[in-house]
Amino acid sequence: MKIAIENLNENELKPIYSDASQLGFGRIFTDRMFTMRYNTTGWADAKIEKYKNFSFDPSACVFHYSQEIFEGMKAYASEDGRILLFRPEQNVRRMNRSADRLVMPPIPEEDMLQAIEELVVAEKRWIPKAPGTSIYIRPTMVATEPFLGVHPSSEYLFFIILSPVGAYYKGGFQPIKLYVEDTFVRAAVGGVGDIKTGGNYAASLMAGYEAQRKGFSQVLWLDARERKYVEEVGAMNMFFVFGDKIVTPPLTGSILPGITRASVLELANHLGLKTEERAITIEEVIDGISSGDITEAFGSGTAAVISPVGSLYFKEKDYSLNNVQVGEVTQRLYDTLVNIQYGKAEDPFGWVK
Ligand code: PMP
Repeated sequence: MKIAIENLNENELKPIYSDASQLGFGRIFTDRMFTMRYNTTGWADAKIEKYKNFSFDPSACVFHYSQEIFEGMKAYASEDGRILLFRPEQNVRRMNRSADRLVMPPIPEEDMLQAIEELVVAEKRWIPKAPGTSIYIRPTMVATEPFLGVHPSSEYLFFIILSPVGAYYKGGFQPIKLYVEDTFVRAAVGGVGDIKTGGNYAASLMAGYEAQRKGFSQVLWLDARERKYVEEVGAMNMFFVFGDKIVTPPLTGSILPGITRASVLELANHLGLKTEERAITIEEVIDGISSGDITEAFGSGTAAVISPVGSLYFKEKDYSLNNVQVGEVTQRLYDTLVNIQYGKAEDPFGWVK
C-alpha cells in the first residue's frame, strides 16, 4: 500500500511532554495520524497527515447507531534503541473480526500492519523512554455515510492515533479492589461482547461509575443469563490461581479474546504452570478464596499487562486474597511478560516485532 506522508514544518510540531515519568493515559496525542477512507470502490487515500479535527455530516451513521470499532495496543522503546510492537498481527486480526461482526469492510492485514508501523516510525520522537512508559496505538473505524436509516454504512473512515502513556504502576504494583456486579451486565452471548466496539464500553459506564463511587477500582462482570459465572474484570480478562493451576473463563462469545490473555496462557504453559479454560462460578470463587484454594487472582490487558486483585466484594461482604499482597505467580507472569515486551528477556514465542 502506498502511504502519502505529510511533512510538517517545525512551527507546526507540538511541544513534546517534558517529563515522561509524569505521563498519564490518553490525553496527549502526537503530531500526525494515519487516515484512510472507504467507499463503494474500496479503501483509498492512505495517508499520514497532521493530527486534526474531522468534519462529519451530523447524520453520519456512527453518531446514531454506533457502527464503530477500535483496537488498543502499544509500542515500546527498548534500552538498545529499537521500537517494539507486541503481537501486532493479533490486534489487526481482531480488528477485522470486529469489522466483520458489524458489517464493516475488512482492511488487508498487511496494509493495517504497515499503517501502524509507518505511523509509529514517523512519530518516533514521541515514544517515551522512561521505565514502564510506552506509546499507545488506537486504530479506529467509523461509519460516515450521511443517512439515518439503520443499515450498514456505505462509507467509512479508518484512522490511527498515537498517545504517549506513562507507567501504569508508578509506585509499584497496587492490588485492585473488585466489586462483583450482580445487577448490570456487560455483554450477552450472541451480542457483541467478544469484539471491540464502543457500545460495549458505553454500556459498562454506569456499573464502573457506581463501583468507583463506592470505593472500588473495577467491576467483576458476571454472565448475562444467570449472574452466576465470572466473565471479565473492567476492561481486562480474569484469571484465578488455584495452587499451581491458572484458570480463566472460556471464550464463549460474551468475553473479549484478549491478546494478553492468550499470551498469559501460553507463557504459563511455557513456565511449567498448568492452565485451564473453564466456566467458573462466583460461588466457587468465594468458596475458593475462603478455603484458601484460590491463592491469587489477576486481570490481564494491554493497559496494565497484569493487574493483581487484592479483594472482592460480593453481596455485602469483602473477601481478601493473599493478604492483599501480590502473589508469586502473578508477579512472575507480569515480570516475564513485561521483560519480553521491552526486549529485555528472551522471546521464545516470537511475539515482539
Ligand atoms: N476485555 C475487554 C473488555 C477489553 O476492553 C480489553 C482491552 N482490550 C481486554 C479484555 C484485554 O484485551 P487485550 O489483552 O487484548 O488488551
